[in-house]
Amino acid sequence: MRKSAAPLVTRVAYGSLAVGLLVLALKGYAAWATGSLALFSDALESVVNVVTAIVALVAVKLAARPADASLPYGYHKAEYFSAVVIGIFIAVAALVIFSEAWRGLVTPHPFDPDPLGLGVSIAASAVNAAWAYVLVRLGRRERSPALSADGRHLATDVISTVGVLVGVLVAAATGWVQLDAILAVLVGLTILWSGWQLIRQSVIGLMDVAVDPARLAQIRELISSNADGAIEAHDIRTRQAGRMTFIEFHLVVPGAMSVADAHAICDRIEGKLREQEADALITIHVEPEHKAKHSGIVVV
Ligand code: ZN
Ligand code: ZN
Repeated sequence: MRKSAAPLVTRVAYGSLAVGLLVLALKGYAAWATGSLALFSDALESVVNVVTAIVALVAVKLAARPADASLPYGYHKAEYFSAVVIGIFIAVAALVIFSEAWRGLVTPHPFDPDPLGLGVSIAASAVNAAWAYVLVRLGRRERSPALSADGRHLATDVISTVGVLVGVLVAAATGWVQLDAILAVLVGLTILWSGWQLIRQSVIGLMDVAVDPARLAQIRELISSNADGAIEAHDIRTRQAGRMTFIEFHLVVPGAMSVADAHAICDRIEGKLREQEADALITIHVEPEHKAKHSGIVVV
């Protein structure tokens, strides 16, 4: 969450979009050349990656906009809205797959295990695997769970495509054409799953989810070790909107402390918190000591 990470996020989003479009074109060709339902659903799976990359780009661009009079807390939540819409698109893609698969089961139609089509599909997976590797390494280097998660998602795509290709070859070799439709259903289910994850995360974000417990512990630690002169901090609340983290709490100081001194403590805490959480909006409510709850963070 350092400031320097922002251009990298943009470059990665453009990279994911380019890779997604290339893979979509290749898998689309493979589906068209073979007429396989399983490869058709595998191609629709890469639509998910393309739209996810678009959301990431929109989010980065929108979040960069400064807050204004009508949206004083900024544009960070736009990302969640677009993700919910995309989750719904993904559900529609899964329904298309299920209805195609149903037709394939009721009236089995043979497909053509065209070697060029299958080869192109393998090439598409190699591109995905390479990008997944890049994402996981970047995620580890930048300590970004989001990048690592994208990389792992892409890696599962590679595995599912390998499964589809093996299944298509088995179906071609044995003449059991329904296997193609059954594989399509399995791919449809994995698409539905990623759509559900996207919607779930976005709805939690719209509901003002707190930072995770490990980060909250870090925040409490930073407050407690940088509030010299104050007595305690309590009622700490956090919420996240995209890359922005909102932190608010009450700071108890001696009743006779001057406003200037209390403000200096607040500025010191805010400075330290911003070193840790680059995109943070911090609000501190100062109270005199008889308000101490003796249940909050004791200043060390
Ligand atoms: Zn209070
Ligand atoms: Zn101030």
